Amino acid sequence: MVRVRELEEYALEHNIPIMLKDGIEFLCNYIRDNNVKHILEIGSAIGYSAIKMALVDKNIKVTTIERDIERYNVAIKNIKNFGLENQITAILDDAFNVEINEQFDLIFIDAAKSQYIKFFEKFKVNLKKSGVFISDNLDFHGLVKSDEEISSRNVRGLVRKLRNYIEFLKNNKEFETKFYSIGDGIGISTWK
Ligand code: SAH
Ligand code: MG
Repeated sequence: MVRVRELEEYALEHNIPIMLKDGIEFLCNYIRDNNVKHILEIGSAIGYSAIKMALVDKNIKVTTIERDIERYNVAIKNIKNFGLENQITAILDDAFNVEINEQFDLIFIDAAKSQYIKFFEKFKVNLKKSGVFISDNLDFHGLVKSDEEISSRNVRGLVRKLRNYIEFLKNNKEFETKFYSIGDGIGISTWK
């Protein structure tokens, strides 16, 4: 039985941006407390958060999407090692190409930070009226709330996109969002 610790060590070693410890704990507690059973995850990486979520309860089903084949292959191997093939369905594709005819209790957005509005708009048809979107990395290492100059053009662009996403959530007519400074910043959006 592979332990979760090994996944965390692998991620650290290979620079895979998995959820921070208090973030994943918060997410798993939310799932437990709200009896969430049907989850869609956008951005599997190596399957760490999907595995952690599935381990909350054996009746939980997770569908997770990853576009990077190497990470997807590692995710598949990890899911197998944990014996969670019955609970986790991994899809190799760009999330924008994936059409799903299911409704979820929770849609976890943790993929390309520049595309969050697009993920949100695309997948809201898959969110139950009682369901929630949870978005990760809204603080982006504290940069989103800071007014310091960012030297990397790339990072500056991502931060701008995340700020736009936060504004989009704050002004959203259909959804109400609560923001938490936990992990790398988490938003929970419910239908109004
Ligand atoms: N949720 C994971 C971490 C995901 S890291 C965990 O906490 O364990 C973000 C992942 O999203 C990366 O592996 C990246 O390849 C993937 N990704 C980014 N944009 C994507 C897209 N449009 N479709 C599918 N996967 C995407
Ligand atoms: Mg993340």
